[in-house]
Amino acid sequence: MIQKHMKFLVYSLMMLMPFGLIFFLYNRVATISIDIQKIYDKKPLVALLVIGSGCAGDSAAVYGARGNVKTVDIAGEPGGQLNGTTKVENMPGLANQLGPDIMQKLQKQAEDFGAEFVYDSVKEVDFSEWPYKVVTQDDKTLYALTIVIATGASPLKLGVKGEAELWGKGVTTCAICDAPFHKGKEVVVIGGGDSAIEEALQLSSYASKVTILVRKDFMRAAPTMQNRLKEVDNVVVLYNTEVQEIIGNDEDGVTTVHIINNKTNVTSSMSVSGVFLAIGHVPNSQLFKKFIKVDADGYIVTKGRSQKTSLPGVFAAGDVEDKVYRQAGVAAGSGIRAALDALAFLQEHGINASIMQKVEENFFTLQKHSKSVHAGPVIFKITTMADFELLKTQQAVVVVDVYTDPCPSCKVLMPTFEKVAQKFADSATFIKINANEVSEIARSYQISTVPTILLLKNGNLVDRLNGAVEESELRTFIQQVL
Ligand code: NDP
Repeated sequence: MIQKHMKFLVYSLMMLMPFGLIFFLYNRVATISIDIQKIYDKKPLVALLVIGSGCAGDSAAVYGARGNVKTVDIAGEPGGQLNGTTKVENMPGLANQLGPDIMQKLQKQAEDFGAEFVYDSVKEVDFSEWPYKVVTQDDKTLYALTIVIATGASPLKLGVKGEAELWGKGVTTCAICDAPFHKGKEVVVIGGGDSAIEEALQLSSYASKVTILVRKDFMRAAPTMQNRLKEVDNVVVLYNTEVQEIIGNDEDGVTTVHIINNKTNVTSSMSVSGVFLAIGHVPNSQLFKKFIKVDADGYIVTKGRSQKTSLPGVFAAGDVEDKVYRQAGVAAGSGIRAALDALAFLQEHGINASIMQKVEENFFTLQKHSKSVHAGPVIFKITTMADFELLKTQQAVVVVDVYTDPCPSCKVLMPTFEKVAQKFADSATFIKINANEVSEIARSYQISTVPTILLLKNGNLVDRLNGAVEESELRTFIQQVL
């Protein structure tokens, strides 16, 4: 009998072992030791490190800096999704303001309280030990006492044939960046949410016709947004319609989309120059998954009515943790909560003003040179095509950043471009051209997206790069002709 019981016990333990292992692993990350002594030998320290500078990140930075703790924001793509939005109707108290204006004011508010913004992105984190280690693309290493992850979400892609090949050659997610390249042409927008309408309205001022392709027989966009479509006469909506394939070539970019009506199975083709995707977003949690709990869709899991993650001292806010509301106002609110949670964490662990004073010398300070890098003294701004034609014949190697003012990725690229320009100032000439001011540049070099970097040697185009590339990629790109 006893033997039978023992067998049952052993069998039960064996069955439970995998669960025990999972429980152990999960709790291992949650039992990080927060030992105040550890802050004395770590350098450079940050009391509150915000990752991301959209609504959630900037709001956290306002509250962190106002809470009188050293607050540093690794900006990533400055301004987040609101930077790519035009009129924002539903931000409480800020009726009908432009997205980039709201973000500029929010950042300034944080800076006025003392928050420092670093125009860099995080490339790797190590949360296995506290203070938490964060390494940037620029190879800066920081040790954070608390962290607010506010990395937002990135646009989803369709995954259809031709999409990858024609990315940046007519297939894009940024109407505010690329609309001017489709002047007088026909384009399609894919999606049935608020973003699809937003993109279509931006495009309607340039394109001759905008067709929104919606896979269901209704749009999920807010009724007020749908009403705005009635104000324009060159936007039409095709319901129950999906893209099967995008056709085009390197020379002309996108030329055609093959579509199918999913009710009737009737297929057809449309001649278009652009395919604008607005089919939702995926949370940017990839870097943190190894250390903190995320759900099946990749959203960071927060605890109850707080912004706490599974790791002590690490908080998450905005679209990286919110799969329900995904509104700018909600993101701002969650950023505030995350910063308040972080301030409370510091207090709870005895990291008060006097302790911070003791380690003041260990705190990160924004290098003066990172500001002067933004001034970009080695970059020439060209404002006419004639000047460009002249310059390219006079200089052996010319690197051109083609940008527009409202384009968020262009803002991300500019500091990288300026930094690389300083490094290669002796061997190449760096110029920037605003594609809205010098529209011939787009025609002459078949540019259909910004930012685009052109590499010329002895006046001839050698290669091009699209998007907000990283410093190492830009350096390698230029080195091919040096
Ligand atoms: P949503 O998730 O709201 O909408 C995505 C749309 O894309 C849906 O219509 C969805 O279809 C469609 N879709 C998804 N996958 C595919 C696919 N593979 N093929 C075709 N269609 C597809 O994303 P949004 O970016 O529009 O909005 C995100 C959040 O941001 C929302 O909360 C929105 O309110 C907010 N927002 C607010 C704005 C404003 O107030 N000015 C502007 C822009 C966004 P289906 O419906 O069938 O799932």
